[in-house]
Amino acid sequence: MTETCLFCRIAAGELPAHRLYEDEAILAFLDLHPVREGHALVIPKAHHVWFEDLPVDLATRVTTCAQTLARAMKRLYGVPRVAMVYTGIHVPHAHAHVVPMHHVHDVTSRAYLNDGLDGFSAPPQLPAERMAQIADGLRAAL
Ligand SMILES: [Zn+2]
Repeated sequence: MTETCLFCRIAAGELPAHRLYEDEAILAFLDLHPVREGHALVIPKAHHVWFEDLPVDLATRVTTCAQTLARAMKRLYGVPRVAMVYTGIHVPHAHAHVVPMHHVHDVTSRAYLNDGLDGFSAPPQLPAERMAQIADGLRAAL
């Protein structure tokens, strides 16, 4: 763990998050700036910057958790597909985005290209009460 890493601090319980699942090695929680409601992040609890550097067993656990979340999201939201994406943007701690896809461009950021190719606006935050409802629904669906 690094003291300044946002996701290490969330994993350690020092910062709040809408937690969906955790075990001794991984944690899933809601993204604070969801592309779509239910947009989750799955992280290893250990600090690794890049997903390609994750030990195979840890990468497998992240993917298995994302698969479970994806099945729950399809049931809950009725979406035809769920994306899992490692982007390496914003927080330098490997994290897989798991996004219920209501539109084929939900993970291609086309909606945010109004900022220009070099710009990127974070999607707006949802009210804490709505986030808690979403987390409750996803946890119950796992
Ligand atoms: Zn970290």
